[in-house]
Amino acid sequence: MRSTNRRHHCLWLIPALLLPMLAGCASSGSAPAADPASATEPAEQVNCQQVACVALTFDDGPGRYTEALLDVLAEHHAPATFFVLGKNVGNHPQTVQRMVDEGHQVGSHSYDHQDITTLTREGIEHEVQWTDEAVEQAAGVTPTVFRPPYGANGAVYNRLIPTPLLLWDVDTLDWSHHDPQKTVDITREEVKPGSVVLLHDIHETSLQAVPELVDMLQAEGYTLVTVDELFAHSDFEPGAVYSSLETGAQATPRDSSADAGD
Ligand SMILES: [Zn+2]
Repeated sequence: MRSTNRRHHCLWLIPALLLPMLAGCASSGSAPAADPASATEPAEQVNCQQVACVALTFDDGPGRYTEALLDVLAEHHAPATFFVLGKNVGNHPQTVQRMVDEGHQVGSHSYDHQDITTLTREGIEHEVQWTDEAVEQAAGVTPTVFRPPYGANGAVYNRLIPTPLLLWDVDTLDWSHHDPQKTVDITREEVKPGSVVLLHDIHETSLQAVPELVDMLQAEGYTLVTVDELFAHSDFEPGAVYSSLETGAQATPRDSSADAGD
């Protein structure tokens, strides 16, 4: 699967080259030409309200496979967002630092995977605070988004979370079937512009799906972005729950070159 690298680079160029055209068409912004040599620089220029973006998200790590996953993502120039467990961060601080260094986003998935709807106010605050501190110590950044374990949430609990809560709209069920091909197939069927794809970097079969997954998404015209990039031009409020970016009809994969003309 590593023999198709050249093709990946070419596919990456397509959205990168379209960006300046789209930016010029849709707004008064004058986006500089994207640099295809970097995994994340082009995505930073993207307005996901107009370009078909997808955010890959990996939960429950960092773990024993996360470094290998970072290798794969680097090879494929694919940014991602990691929802880490605070209790795991201390065991892999260099891995978390590497995520940041390589342009990925680090989000919080609580300290030890607790259902926040079963916790007291103090319990929720500890889950957030301990994870933030662990990430800050490891990588010098503070998580700006929270994924509640099991997706469990409720208004009375959510308002105690100091960042937006992000769920997902594409559930690959990777943790259940452990089948890389199934992970790709489910994503292909369910993905749409603005989607958030749920994966887990604690399973080897999940990272084995990533080369074909990224290849498929890029071939279908999607631009991979981090969560913050996905919502950069939209409301993304602390304590509110999101599962994808509502893009309306503007962002469409494949046909983006045609859209740039009107
Ligand atoms: Zn989880």
